[in-house]
Amino acid sequence: MDFFAVLHAGIALATLILGILVFLTNWKRATNLVFLFLSLVLVAWLGCLGAAFYVGTFTVASFAVRASNAVGAFMPFTFNALRLAIVHRPRQRRHILRRSLGWLLPAIAISIMCLTRFFLREVIVGQDGGIPEPVYGPGILIYSAYQVSFLLLFVTRFIGDLRREKGIAKIELQFVLLASAIGIFTAVTVTSVLPIILKSSQIVSLAPVAALLFIGIIAYGIATRRIMEVGTVLRLITAYTLLVLYLSLLYGLTLIISRFVFGAAGVDTPTAPHFVAALVMAFTLTPAHGRMQLVASKLFVGSGTTDVSRTVQRSNAILQAIGTLDALLERFSNVVRESVGAGDVTILLEEKGRFKQVYPQGRDDSRLPGGIMQANSPTIRTLALSGQPLIVDVLHRRQPTALLAAAGDELDSLGAAAAVGIRSKGDVQGVMLLGPRLSGRVYGLPEQRALQIVGDQLATAVENARLYTQLQDGKMYNDILLDSLVSGVVATDSDQRVTVFNNEAERITGLRSDSVIGEPMTSLPQALVRVFNHTLTTGESVRNRDVRLRLSDGEAVPIQVGSSVFYGHEGAVSGALAVFSDLSVVKRLETQVRRTAHLASVGTLSAGMAHEIKNPLVTLKTFSQLLEEQYEDPEFRQTFSELVGKEVNRIDRIVNQLLKFGRPAKAQLAEISLQEVVEQSLQLVGVPMSKKNVDLKVDWHVSSSVTAGDPRLLEQAFVNFFLNAIDAMEGGGELRVILRLVRDPLPSAEDREDVLPDRYLSVSIQDSGVGIKEEDLPHVFDPFFTTKSTGTGLGLSVVHSIIQEHGGMIDVESEEGVGTTFHVLYPIVRRDSLPEGDAATKRDTAEVGA
Ligand code: ADP
Ligand code: MG
Repeated sequence: MDFFAVLHAGIALATLILGILVFLTNWKRATNLVFLFLSLVLVAWLGCLGAAFYVGTFTVASFAVRASNAVGAFMPFTFNALRLAIVHRPRQRRHILRRSLGWLLPAIAISIMCLTRFFLREVIVGQDGGIPEPVYGPGILIYSAYQVSFLLLFVTRFIGDLRREKGIAKIELQFVLLASAIGIFTAVTVTSVLPIILKSSQIVSLAPVAALLFIGIIAYGIATRRIMEVGTVLRLITAYTLLVLYLSLLYGLTLIISRFVFGAAGVDTPTAPHFVAALVMAFTLTPAHGRMQLVASKLFVGSGTTDVSRTVQRSNAILQAIGTLDALLERFSNVVRESVGAGDVTILLEEKGRFKQVYPQGRDDSRLPGGIMQANSPTIRTLALSGQPLIVDVLHRRQPTALLAAAGDELDSLGAAAAVGIRSKGDVQGVMLLGPRLSGRVYGLPEQRALQIVGDQLATAVENARLYTQLQDGKMYNDILLDSLVSGVVATDSDQRVTVFNNEAERITGLRSDSVIGEPMTSLPQALVRVFNHTLTTGESVRNRDVRLRLSDGEAVPIQVGSSVFYGHEGAVSGALAVFSDLSVVKRLETQVRRTAHLASVGTLSAGMAHEIKNPLVTLKTFSQLLEEQYEDPEFRQTFSELVGKEVNRIDRIVNQLLKFGRPAKAQLAEISLQEVVEQSLQLVGVPMSKKNVDLKVDWHVSSSVTAGDPRLLEQAFVNFFLNAIDAMEGGGELRVILRLVRDPLPSAEDREDVLPDRYLSVSIQDSGVGIKEEDLPHVFDPFFTTKSTGTGLGLSVVHSIIQEHGGMIDVESEEGVGTTFHVLYPIVRRDSLPEGDAATKRDTAEVGA
């Protein structure tokens, strides 16, 4: 078989297959149908030509030439139908057929004429086959006139369309134009130019290649999903043509040179020069490719296609800058608008299973109902399935599945020309809807690429921005939390500058946060500075320490403070935090409780003392009754006067003691001897003690017990201890009071600057009473905890607060049926640090004394 015959048949077959494929991509679309028709016409035409060229018998040849012209008569009609299908995008095929009738009827008439001898007389077939030579009749004139006039008509219509149309239709028309130009150029080259140059008429048989190029380009133009503007295609074609030319030239040149070199060297291998040439090609391929593309793009400057790499750079730059979501969306949509020339940009982001319009915000002209797109909407579902932007024009080209058609309709109804998925980790997190391009062009392949990249970048950026917003929200949340706390919170950084100072801190200290924040921590009240210093230098936490804040107006506010350091992520100390609460109210309540408890113990004491007073009174009464009759008895008078003096003194002492305890003189922190305070307290409970048959043992293991304290409060505390001990020893027993000096009682003892280091006085109150049940032991200091029918449960809680206020500590050990020991650790306070007229104490005193 002849090579050209095979080529011819192959091209006819390829044309047929192409026609069917394009038709199958979307058989509902008129353009695809017309294309199928066009390819069938071409196949028929090629078939006729093939028969005429290669069969070689006279009958076949003459019929084939006639038939080829008859088929050719349908060309104008076919082209016009294609044009109409492109321009009138509605899928109405009948409409296109109707408008083509004016072209169809002449075509039929002419094609019938072509089959007569009026048109073609005969065909002369050469002896050795070859191309048969037709001898035309007068009909050829009519045929030519028909073809020329309809061609002219078609061209004018076509030019009008090209001017008028926009978007996808324009691109398709341009592709038809491009196909025609390339087809004609190839045909002319093969049939006229090459035969002359090569001096061979055989080359004419390559003419069908022109038909294949023609139909192939149209097929691409109307059926591809990767729409490219003709300019882009031309640029690519030019780039590759240049590349092929350059490489061929290079190959040839290298071949010649290396042949020469090898020849001169006396090496005679035919493969070596080819090898060298191939090597040179391999090395130059990549740089040459880039350069050719550059040359091509220079040739087509201003072709208006999107610069993908620039878009990527710009969207990347936005990614680098952290901002809020709103600012980010604004910037991204500007990039999109500018880089692809989108008319308007709408961005929706997923939120609780729906897609909510987040850009532009506050504008209600969007066609989205309520600015919401459901997650199961066709657009979102389609985007979820394909990783590429949805271009409405492309959607209409494809064989529409129910989903695609719905997505196309939805986007049409929203006035969107493209939808880009904002995908993160494979999930659609949002959608960017783009209106038609302002230039009227379509979103072609470069735009699709750029949009896809921007979509991906946007996904990352949105995620970042959301995190950032969350962070901001978190900070706000923290601030609100801090300010609603009923505790004062102060923090410093590692440079000892104040970083946090909340509302309650402002209230307690009377300082304004803006006068403190950013300042060195020495601008805080002294007591807080000391706590911070301790925490920052030792790294130790401070828990529940009672201190007094001396305010600028001289007032002292009792607070309880805790503090600790906090660490940055490298484990280095990045600052310290102090939390404190105002104890003023607590202190006031405590005072009241103390008063109640005090009255209770006064009651207990006075009940016993009333009895004590009564005894001397009875004695006095008896004597005074006897006085009248025995007045003359000098012995009686002697006894009487001694006794009266003694008993009155006794009453006076008892009453004085009670008075002193019940309504003490204004007390305040003063230099005291702890031993004296304990002795005083013991005297107060002397009566109940002797009534209960309690033996008292005292061990004073100290030479001096001088320290500072409020004797009135301390007396109250010790009396409570003693009364409890006496209560516990119903049938008598032993009360032992031991006073000694201890060093370093507990390693965690408070580090008070005013306390002599390692010096504490310890008072142990030990009884042989009933003891405390193990389960009660943790509760004995709780207010209102009592096991006695007439108890108040306030005694020990008051004791605790008094001792704590003096910087002391209490410890208790007890065994049921054996006895109980309370240990009081009392700090020895330096004389020079005695707080003089402490305001808070004064206030307490004033209230108690009232
Ligand atoms: P009250 O004496 O009014 O009961 P307190 O606060 O003084 O209240 O004491 C609380 C409880 O602790 C007492 O009811 C008692 O059960 C227990 N308690 C206190 N001291 C002793 C002690 N020395 N021996 C045994 N139990 C004691
Ligand atoms: Mg008690």
